[in-house]
Amino acid sequence: MSYIGQDIPKLGFGLMRLPKEGGKTDIEQTKAMVDAYMQAGLNYFDTARVYGESEDAIRQALVERYPRDSYYLATKNAAWLGAKTAEEAQAMFETSLRSTGVDYFDFYLLHNLGDTRTAVFDKFDMWEFVKRLKEKGLVKHIGFSMHDSADALEEILVAHSEMEFVQLQINYADWEDGSVQSRRCYETARKYDIPIIIMEPVRGGTLANPPASVAEILSASNPDASYASWALRFAMGLEGVITVLSGMSTIEQMEQNIELYKNYKPLDADEMNAIGKAQRELAKITTIPCTACKYCMKSCPQDINIADIMQSCNRLETYGVADGKNWYGFATMGHGKASECIGCGQCEVVCPQHIGIVGELEKAAAAFE
Ligand code: SF4
Ligand code: SF4
Repeated sequence: MSYIGQDIPKLGFGLMRLPKEGGKTDIEQTKAMVDAYMQAGLNYFDTARVYGESEDAIRQALVERYPRDSYYLATKNAAWLGAKTAEEAQAMFETSLRSTGVDYFDFYLLHNLGDTRTAVFDKFDMWEFVKRLKEKGLVKHIGFSMHDSADALEEILVAHSEMEFVQLQINYADWEDGSVQSRRCYETARKYDIPIIIMEPVRGGTLANPPASVAEILSASNPDASYASWALRFAMGLEGVITVLSGMSTIEQMEQNIELYKNYKPLDADEMNAIGKAQRELAKITTIPCTACKYCMKSCPQDINIADIMQSCNRLETYGVADGKNWYGFATMGHGKASECIGCGQCEVVCPQHIGIVGELEKAAAAFE
């Protein structure tokens, strides 16, 4: 059965982690990455208003340099991020048009549904708003991204059959995770025949450098394959997928992923067996499921670098105290320390991974300060 976007190449360029130079997005390197990606025949770009300078960067690196019909561009509406009225929430669309420089989006998403955030889209009637955008030709396809349970996903799919696709966090490490529920969310989307865009296939980069016991299992099965390639092949092999977004930050990552895409073959039975063993091994190691999306950091009154502190805690758990402390040092350079958290809880409300951030910061302060 055919579905929207099924001809889109299965490697999408996620624009959340673009290269930085002196704290600003490195436009020249972004251009080089865009060029390599386009020359490989790939053409799906995923940005969002909340990815810092991402919309502006893609205007310079792509929109001003390539014909509009040579690529697909997706962006998102984060109504939960400070909009006080429907007008303010809807005005985010116009801002995205101006920032990116296009006059329509191929894919427009209500961003990061789930938890208390879904109610904000309901309150401002953003569902009707995106339908009107589609009727006017300002967006080609409407959908949403979500971090919540499979049951919450099902509720939305039942209530909003006008949604044409869904963007979900799917990777082999979160497949059976009780909070992320990758497998159950995937199966729910399939049950409603809704095409899926996969985000976080490498779980914020952590599966490119897995714990030693997991790395050993994967290397024993295929010593030549990079760890990131296992994660990408797992995601690319799923049915009903429009594309798999990789949030690439360097030209080297781009080249490696293009190579993988060109030579892609699905995981065979032995490799799937190795993935099963890796999943069981990962389940034994307790780490904080932070994907470094940084949504939590936009409203922190103490300017705490929460994402990197979560990473420090995970490094401590997985690689030992010296590595954890090293990361913590970088995480707090020019930012508030974990002990400076005032417990306001604003970060936890927006965290798509439902992390108890305040409690984790207390543990980080005890371990590193
Ligand atoms: S609870 Fe702490 S880390 Fe979270 S937003 Fe408030 S001050 Fe920042
Ligand atoms: S703590 Fe949550 S919101 Fe913050 S970076 Fe990690 S996953 Fe994102």
